[in-house]
Amino acid sequence: MRLVDRRERPLHDLRISITDRCNFRCTYCMPREHFGPEHDFLKRDALLTYEEITTVVRALLPTGLRKVRLTGGEPLLRRDITTLISMIREVGPDLDLALTTNGALLKRHAVELQEAGLDRVTVSLDAMDQTVFQAMADTTQHTPDDIMEGIDHALSAGLGVKVNTVVQKNINEEQIPKLAAACVERNIPIRFIEYMDVGNTNAWVFDEVVSGAEIRQRLEEQYGVLVPEKPKHKGEVARRYTTSDGDDFGFIESVSNPFCGDCTRARLSAHGSLYTCLFSSKGHDLRAMLRMGAEGSALSLAIRSIWERRDDRYSMDRTSTEEKPAKVEMSFIGG
Ligand code: SAM
Ligand code: SF4
Ligand code: SF4
Repeated sequence: MRLVDRRERPLHDLRISITDRCNFRCTYCMPREHFGPEHDFLKRDALLTYEEITTVVRALLPTGLRKVRLTGGEPLLRRDITTLISMIREVGPDLDLALTTNGALLKRHAVELQEAGLDRVTVSLDAMDQTVFQAMADTTQHTPDDIMEGIDHALSAGLGVKVNTVVQKNINEEQIPKLAAACVERNIPIRFIEYMDVGNTNAWVFDEVVSGAEIRQRLEEQYGVLVPEKPKHKGEVARRYTTSDGDDFGFIESVSNPFCGDCTRARLSAHGSLYTCLFSSKGHDLRAMLRMGAEGSALSLAIRSIWERRDDRYSMDRTSTEEKPAKVEMSFIGG
């Protein structure tokens, strides 16, 4: 039966955070001063099991779910992720099944991810220069070359690949041309993301946002006029542009040009709470229901009632002066 929220938005996409841990400490997402050794990460038994995650996916299929994205934290850190992928593929043979990763472990896993039934990976990469990359990801363990190798392995394995780049003023703006060139060379889309005020720990300030329009201007110096493309489907968050050679650039303009009106995404946190917005302060505990033995149909009903009450539009209201409650961290609910 058709399910829409109070703003007539269907639930088409589910993003599932399968771990709150990460091998990077990107300064805009998990700053080390807040996510250091003393940080209280979720214990193993707090995480949803693969069976529980699959039950949630199965419960959402009749409500119109089309796309599942596994994320985190860093999803490739969770053991036997291919088992989860096969399980989801089995319950939803027609689902578009994707994964977002920082790419550090992609080279090792690309083939088995594809064999398990994954369709696509989105690889986050913010710089081609090692110094900028390592400063942003706050790691000395990995280099941009490692990530590019991961991307090349994913392509050879037959996975669809996109690159995501968060752009921060005076930090990685200069990397835009090199990142674009690396993606054009491989014929893969790159999507530039405006730096967002997710969570409560990244000390976000508006002055560090580089707008999609500014990024396009830089790209036009390199590639000539960018022509806007029509969205492939309702709810597509990236605004797509192409060059005269057909190269594909996307812009996720959550700050300068928000897209809440078409937002069809729900998020399942690593500990099993359902969030109806990236900027929510509170989730809805599905884990308790699952562990009390709720059947798929009861879960389905519960999710329907959560979604029917949904009224979120944080990005549209971002500049309102009204006091806002603390938000959930992105590494916890999944980007
Ligand atoms: N660890 C994986 C990764 O980095 O791809 C998956 C999780 S990460 C939270 C998902 C996406 O969120 C990444 O593309 C990351 O760049 C983006 N992200 C995290 N913090 C952000 C912020 N403050 N503003 C914009 N995007 C952000
Ligand atoms: Fe980790 Fe991804 Fe957040 Fe970076 S953006 S800290 S890789 S979860
Ligand atoms: Fe969707 Fe919330 Fe982002 Fe708006 S702010 S697009 S409702 S996740």
